[in-house]
Amino acid sequence: MKRIIILPSEKHKDIFYVKPKYIDEERFTITGSEFHHIQNVLRKKKGDQVTVVDGKGNEYIGIIESIKFDRIIGIISKTLLKPNEPVMEVSIIQGLIKGNRFKYVVEKATEIGVRRIIPVYTEKSIKEHEFKSSQRWENIAISAMKQSGRSILPEITEVRSLKEALEGTERFEAKLIAHSQSGTGIRLFNKNTLSKIKKHKGLIRTAAIAIGPEGGFTTDEVNLARANNFIPISLGDRKLRSETASIVALTILLFSEGELG
Ligand code: SAH
Repeated sequence: MKRIIILPSEKHKDIFYVKPKYIDEERFTITGSEFHHIQNVLRKKKGDQVTVVDGKGNEYIGIIESIKFDRIIGIISKTLLKPNEPVMEVSIIQGLIKGNRFKYVVEKATEIGVRRIIPVYTEKSIKEHEFKSSQRWENIAISAMKQSGRSILPEITEVRSLKEALEGTERFEAKLIAHSQSGTGIRLFNKNTLSKIKKHKGLIRTAAIAIGPEGGFTTDEVNLARANNFIPISLGDRKLRSETASIVALTILLFSEGELG
């Protein structure tokens, strides 16, 4: 796996998000709030360098060719493929929690390297209609992607049932469900957890982790997950809030595969 090394001078640069449809082989067009930021806050000029990501894994370094009243056009001088992206694609199946807590999952999991967040209603979660899925989540993910220097915008799917989400992960290599009930023989997540899953040597490329809502999963739900080849894991003796559990599970999963090194 070849990783692209970014020179130190290019780190901590301002990154702008441009949808793929505004990028062709030679140029990108920056509009909307990103345009205003470059124009009015950073006061960039023709000839200045800007970096944009398309949220699909492409990062473009370009030079401003022209500044119009509502857009900036840049000429692409260099393209990087998937800079700062983990190889492992992790999906978090997240039991519905209140918006301010879900926001935390979106923001932090994006920074750490999640690929997809699937909000699910469960027996003990808040109701689907109480959960406001909106453009807001995407905007939070876009900010976190840019801030962390990622090039892929994680997908935040529509709300679905836990069952649908579990069944939708058939092709995944590693499937884990975090469950904290003591005395059930659930093992702590450790190095062996993944080596048992691995059928072949090499990195795990696709993983899903299911995290319960504030009320946790029911025994039936854990059994349903088991039936779909999910392995129940403990995240330690402390009972974590749902959003904390998501972040911890994502972190140890990426860390255990050397993705945070
Ligand atoms: N009210 C529940 C706890 C829910 S915590 C109870 O009393 O059992 C919300 C979710 O976070 C859980 O469903 C689980 O997926 C995850 N979680 C929190 N702490 C955990 C731990 N120590 N081990 C494994 N999963 C944990």
